Amino acid sequence: MGQHKFFNSSRPVGSCSGYTSSTSKALGPLQVVGSQNQLFEVTFYDEFNGVSLPDGRGGCYASGGGGGWARWTFGPLGPLRGSAGTFCVTPVEQSKSLSLTVSSPSSKELRPVGTGGNSTAELVAKVVEGTTPKAGLAVQFTTDATANSGGHDHDNPPRPKAALAPASGTTDANGEVRFRFNATQISGVHTITATCNDCVNKTAVEKVTVKVPGLLNIFTLPFRDPNWAYPGVGQTDNHLDNHYLTVAAAARLLDISRKYQKIWPTAPRLTLNDGSLVWGGKFDIDGTWDQNTQRHNEHRIGDNVDVRANNAQGAVPANIRDAVFRWLRKTSRQADSIPADFVIESVNPLHEGIGKVNEHFHLRLGN
Ligand SMILES: [Zn+2]
Ligand SMILES: [Zn+2]
Repeated sequence: MGQHKFFNSSRPVGSCSGYTSSTSKALGPLQVVGSQNQLFEVTFYDEFNGVSLPDGRGGCYASGGGGGWARWTFGPLGPLRGSAGTFCVTPVEQSKSLSLTVSSPSSKELRPVGTGGNSTAELVAKVVEGTTPKAGLAVQFTTDATANSGGHDHDNPPRPKAALAPASGTTDANGEVRFRFNATQISGVHTITATCNDCVNKTAVEKVTVKVPGLLNIFTLPFRDPNWAYPGVGQTDNHLDNHYLTVAAAARLLDISRKYQKIWPTAPRLTLNDGSLVWGGKFDIDGTWDQNTQRHNEHRIGDNVDVRANNAQGAVPANIRDAVFRWLRKTSRQADSIPADFVIESVNPLHEGIGKVNEHFHLRLGN
């Protein structure tokens, strides 16, 4: 009983050789030598029997760890007496795949530029083949913002995109390209796309949210006090929802509006124009995405609100306007007759647009 030449032998991935056999014997075990986690395919053609072997036992195998050896047992087969054929171990081309992640999970939520805190995130694009990092592959990056996100109910013209630096790169020895996402002053949801043309999935995406967290619609409970609720104005097609404040600022506003009603009981309740947008950031009144205009330069972090003080219905009446402004500045005069209980901390107001249709008090309510 001779032994088959492939009995207890090893073959490297990529080898293909003929064999002859003069005995009926199971083949194997055979060892295939490959790099770690390499995929290979085994084919066995038996000329004597005129069949491809092994009857469905061929196929793809992954070599394991530990020096790149894989033990592959082939058999039992037979009879192979006098047979001849070929035995091949063929490497299987693996798919390169691309992934994209924000390197620090906390950076998935950024703040608009100009609102304090972090406005930039590092992202990592990575290309692997199986588990092996692949170097030298080109990856490009683009970003886009979700229309109408962040409290901006307008998308024409499209909002400015965040800056990506760099906008492309080549994977390093770790299979990685790192780049930065730099938010603008404008809140919203951004989708970042990495593209690798040599990868099976071509693209990978990640989302980053740019927002001032924790803002509250002041017309929701508990701030919607049925006795002292204040009407809101200033909603436009560009910004349908424009009355967001921090909890602290909303509480302070409620206190101010209650005291105002007690000091000037015959005056209309305070009529409130813009606070901040739901996610804060630059409040571009005209829907132009202008980040540089001085208009509404504050109103970004939920600590400002505008109080109507023109000649429109519900505005602070002209005959008490100056006295109210002094009260808001905490510079009341004796003649203003403000009861001690109703004195407030100054909210550092501005009296803007005096004599114009948009005349108002701009309050700084603190955070
Ligand atoms: Zn807007
Ligand atoms: Zn204002």
